[in-house]
Amino acid sequence: MSWYWLVLIFFCFGGFTKIADTARKAMRTRHKRKLELLKAERDRREAIEAANKPPEPVCGCGHHLAKHDKQGKCHETVEMPTAWDAEKKPVAYEPGRCTCQQYVGPQPLTTFYAEDLTDLA
Ligand SMILES: [Zn+2]
Ligand SMILES: [Zn+2]
Repeated sequence: MSWYWLVLIFFCFGGFTKIADTARKAMRTRHKRKLELLKAERDRREAIEAANKPPEPVCGCGHHLAKHDKQGKCHETVEMPTAWDAEKKPVAYEPGRCTCQQYVGPQPLTTFYAEDLTDLA
């Protein structure tokens, strides 16, 4: 075997490695692009879901609509401060009722409430 065969083989090997490397890099790029596309698709779906979902019916008092009666008064139990220290920071609590008088949060669109028709009997 002459020396130029060795050179040729060396170049072939080197060339092949380069091609394989390029191919691998291209594959990786394509894979990354695919991942990016998948992520974009998921983000889009999540955005649509968030847009279609009605806002949480939570009142300004911080309690859910379900905790409010039909008059709008809140029935959630809260901690009422019963004692304060010198800096007016509450130091003791006892369970009390939320003082909220009216539900002011968003109304769920899917809930329809109809009065009972018992008067018609
Ligand atoms: Zn409330
Ligand atoms: Zn409340």
